[in-house]
Amino acid sequence: MNLPADYHMHTPLCRHATGAPGDYAKHALEIGLTEIGFSDHAPMPRDDFDNWRMYASQLDEYVAKVRKAQKDFPQLTIRLALEVDYLPGYEDWIRGLAARHPWDYFIGSVHYVSDGWAIDDPQKLSEWKHRNADEVWSAYFERLARAAETGFFEIIGHADLPKKFGHRPSRDPGSAEGFAEAGCTPLYEKFLNAAQRNNCAIELNTAGLRNFS
Ligand SMILES: [Zn+2]
Ligand SMILES: [Zn+2]
Repeated sequence: MNLPADYHMHTPLCRHATGAPGDYAKHALEIGLTEIGFSDHAPMPRDDFDNWRMYASQLDEYVAKVRKAQKDFPQLTIRLALEVDYLPGYEDWIRGLAARHPWDYFIGSVHYVSDGWAIDDPQKLSEWKHRNADEVWSAYFERLARAAETGFFEIIGHADLPKKFGHRPSRDPGSAEGFAEAGCTPLYEKFLNAAQRNNCAIELNTAGLRNFS
């Protein structure tokens, strides 16, 4: 079977992944992949922004590790990339990251719907109790659309992230109709149009199969 490439892999520099790039490459070949891509969470301007990404000072070390895997496994196509958080106001930072290395692609991901709360962070799970799921979904897709509009990203990551802990929209925020009648279209439409206009691929992140899909 011809498996599609896996472009979303993290190394231990992200502090929530195990396995060096070489280990991933070896396994990829064993299961018949011909192409993979590393996309560690990009650093933020402040190293204490959260605790699930590399420090800014580790960016070159990350690139060197991926380059080494490329050299050690010439029979496998290995892409060098980053998963970059999109938050409004960080455009200059992202531009700066893009200029640092000849990246193969950027995955633009939204984890934060407000500064200080990443919706998928298990350590911040209690925050969901204070939030309205419809508003979170709505804010999430609003940011996804803005991320696609920036033109920074070849791929938009895991557009289904708000369902990680089982929270789903009860109705369409843009619709007076009930959720069941109206469907999800108004929620997605703006984002999908923005992705199409800006030539962004949309990631099918299979972690969703384990996360209350
Ligand atoms: Zn990721
Ligand atoms: Zn992510």
